[in-house]
Amino acid sequence: MPLPHAPQQPTQQEIVALRERYRVERERRVRPEGTAQYRSTEAEFGYFAADPYTDEVTEREPLHDTVDVAIVGGGFGGILAGARLRRQGVATVRVIEKGGDFGGTWYWNRYPGIHCDIESHVYLPLLDETGYVPEWKYAPGEEIRRHAVRVAEQFDLYEHALFSTAATDLTWDQAAEQWVVGTDRGDAFRATYVITSTGTLSEPKLPGIPGIEDYRGHTFHTSRWDYGYTGGSPEGGMDGLTGKRVGVVGTGATGVQVIPMLAEDAGHLYVFQRTPSAVDVRGQQRMTPREVGADRPGWAGERRENFLRICSGEEAAQDLVADRWTASAGLLEKLLPSFRRHGEPDFEAAYEAADHATMNQIRARVAAEVTDAATAAALTPWYRYACKRPTFSDTYLPAFNRANVTLVDTADSHGIERMTERGVMVGGVEYEVECLVFATGFSVGVSGITSGKLPVTGRDGVRLMDTWKQRGPRTLHGFTSNGFPNLIRMGSLQNASSVNYTHILDEQALHAAALVAAAQEKGAVIEPAPEVEDAWVDVCAQGAPDHAWFHAECTPGYYNGEGRGRPNGPTAYPHGAVAFHDLLRRWREENMGEALRAKEWARESVSVR
Ligand code: NDP
Repeated sequence: MPLPHAPQQPTQQEIVALRERYRVERERRVRPEGTAQYRSTEAEFGYFAADPYTDEVTEREPLHDTVDVAIVGGGFGGILAGARLRRQGVATVRVIEKGGDFGGTWYWNRYPGIHCDIESHVYLPLLDETGYVPEWKYAPGEEIRRHAVRVAEQFDLYEHALFSTAATDLTWDQAAEQWVVGTDRGDAFRATYVITSTGTLSEPKLPGIPGIEDYRGHTFHTSRWDYGYTGGSPEGGMDGLTGKRVGVVGTGATGVQVIPMLAEDAGHLYVFQRTPSAVDVRGQQRMTPREVGADRPGWAGERRENFLRICSGEEAAQDLVADRWTASAGLLEKLLPSFRRHGEPDFEAAYEAADHATMNQIRARVAAEVTDAATAAALTPWYRYACKRPTFSDTYLPAFNRANVTLVDTADSHGIERMTERGVMVGGVEYEVECLVFATGFSVGVSGITSGKLPVTGRDGVRLMDTWKQRGPRTLHGFTSNGFPNLIRMGSLQNASSVNYTHILDEQALHAAALVAAAQEKGAVIEPAPEVEDAWVDVCAQGAPDHAWFHAECTPGYYNGEGRGRPNGPTAYPHGAVAFHDLLRRWREENMGEALRAKEWARESVSVR
């Protein structure tokens, strides 16, 4: 994928001025506490993390039975793993999910205006298999949630599923060659294989604003929307907000979707902004099945592969999705370890010119759409593309032209100063609000195995995180680790990534299900030998791009540890998702048998090959 078109090369003077502007704007926002500026909703504010979408949790007896596969997480990762396992003929698959139903992020996030900004025809998985064709280019959240349910129903995942249940520990029983799965509902059931897919952005976080506990108005996080208070639905119509003064904190991808909806329904809306998002054109439109090629079998697979190729920097004969993601795909090079051109002569200069062109276009759009000059200036993003998650909206910027919307820029005070009983203080001014919505995002890396919240005890009582703390993460393809037989971890660690993450999850699910099916057939245990892990860690390390400088210069956010820098090094497969999927496909064809340790070997040696 070529870099986005730069109409003319910026002069050296322009480059120097822009770099300086970026530096100054970054300094205005960096906080010395880094990620410690946030507070965990789960640990500190239980009501912020409670499930508003399940009225009553059904009482049940703890389970002590045995299943073939336990899957931790009922989002798209878990659902896809379940679907692919069922397709492989695996009999009993039990999904363990904290929420009251399948859907993961789409279960929890139901805020007004929620949509996915990745095209629905590439984001929704298993469209070919379910025969479903979305109507809109960008699907509403509820449609995506229902698709998750549709897939779970079609592949019989409800029968053994445990909802409103969190896995608390996984312990390998060597004698039985089974995992014992503990949960917060007292279960201790057994599974021959365990697959984990626990997501990365699952726990809502709150800013550690002084006085946050003092606020007496109504408040909630966008991922736990209180329709009982606001009225309405994700389509709007929030009559509970009529005539009310409402505040919203946060202008990231969620804020950009929810703010136009709140602006429609609130008496007055105060938007508390620290960093403006880069808001690009969205271009929502209805699309007929014919337009997306849904009259041909295999259409959805081809379309998402095409999107993946473009967003991974691979050549593609045509651009089927043709939106602002694909138009700017060349500028995702610093975010996703896929593009291999950063060492080429003049590449960085061309990259910087293309970045200027794209960001200047995004900045010009603010000036064109927002009538008040001071508001437009505050909404203008001064950082490089992909420093923060790009956003897409055609209603966000015009919302600030409404008489009932006030933008309160908090950058000079590094965020909101404090909260009072009545509202929010910024620059010494108290903004009284009856309702305050936190669109403040999610803690990163606090769920699942790597967070330590789901302790895993493998062979000989060894804890997975103890070994990883000593030597760093060690896996084969990110999925499996020596000493932890029949445990398959889904996620981006030492694996691949993309902006269209459901595609990544589906490829992971295919691989996980193939491993389980082959192990069942051969009566084998899935476990890589230490030297196989060493080789994979080397593969990840050798090509790891050095993008630390880029993230160090970026405005703070969760992409760069709130300004502290992004971890470099062997955290992902460095040659991109397309190459990784090819590698997995070949590996399955050529080597899978060798990585499965036949049972009879198990008693003699831990080596695989
Ligand atoms: P983000 O973490 O992206 O944004 C949080 C917002 O809260 C930021 O604007 C942040 O400001 C602001 N904030 C935090 N602390 C303070 C403070 N003390 N004072 C003022 N403002 C503060 O969370 P989101 O929920 O918006 O998005 C999270 C992720 O969810 C996205 O990156 C994306 O991956 C996903 N998402 C995807 C969508 C899709 O369509 N596919 C839609 C929505 C979300 P600052 O920037 O200065 O830190």
